[in-house]
Amino acid sequence: MTDHLPARLRVDNLSKEYGRGASANLVLKDISLEVRQGEFVCLVGPSGAGKTTLLRCLTSLMRPTSGSVSLDGVRLDGPSAQISVVFQEYTRSLFPWLTVERNVALPLRARGVPRALVRDLVRETLESVGLPEIEKKHPWQLSGGMQQRVAIARALVTEPEVLVMDEPFASIDAQTRLELEDLTLSLQRTRAMSVVLVTHDIDEAVYLADRVVVLSKNPATVQRVVAVSLGSERDQIETRARPEFAEHRATILELIRESQLRAAEALAARRSSPA
Ligand code: ADP
Repeated sequence: MTDHLPARLRVDNLSKEYGRGASANLVLKDISLEVRQGEFVCLVGPSGAGKTTLLRCLTSLMRPTSGSVSLDGVRLDGPSAQISVVFQEYTRSLFPWLTVERNVALPLRARGVPRALVRDLVRETLESVGLPEIEKKHPWQLSGGMQQRVAIARALVTEPEVLVMDEPFASIDAQTRLELEDLTLSLQRTRAMSVVLVTHDIDEAVYLADRVVVLSKNPATVQRVVAVSLGSERDQIETRARPEFAEHRATILELIRESQLRAAEALAARRSSPA
């Protein structure tokens, strides 16, 4: 679908080690991947594999030990205005003492955008996430799903090229989760953004993604990149009922199961070998 489009975000031979010396823990090893313009990529892998660590490196919240991340061919040395992030914990990422309008306006204010323009951009962005006329409310007056919509609006208000999402729907109830998945797909398509989304939910990954990057564990490497052959139109009932959907899910589950098994065997071998 997006095969012909240029790479927007590139990760080249990225490794990340926590700690030093004898207590060093190599979490990411030699990760290379690319996200094309307008492409939806999901990252999955066993719990504790290093998905969040990889997202932190992608968004320059953390420096890799080696390797690089580049956007449109330019190596990133720090956070880019073209990459926005949405975290799982909306209760921690939104400021409860600020109105919705002020929360969403924060990135624009930080960039010195004139006040009148800020007001218009905030209103338009809130409408685009299905939240008209709530500017004057505070986050704590809204449901969890609405708060996450506000967090998405804040990430989008600067019109980023790349949206990075770390388990964005993990704390949302099941029904609202499906609505937010569809909202994210529709925003990605209308804005022609690239999206990188981490999830532990394999069905969610297959439903949303053009490609699913499966990470192994201890250390995380790119185990396989699965191209999802479900077309660009997705429907919560019809798409999930298709045989290709079940095939993709089975392939990915099998890969994760294999890598969990290998990680457990490696751990057992390390424990039983003399120091
Ligand atoms: P995932 O998101 O796939 O569950 P994480 O990236 O959160 O995995 O963690 C991968 C590994 O890195 C885990 O073993 C975790 O304990 C370790 N880790 C994560 N953050 C830190 C940190 N700030 N300092 C030291 N180790 C960390």
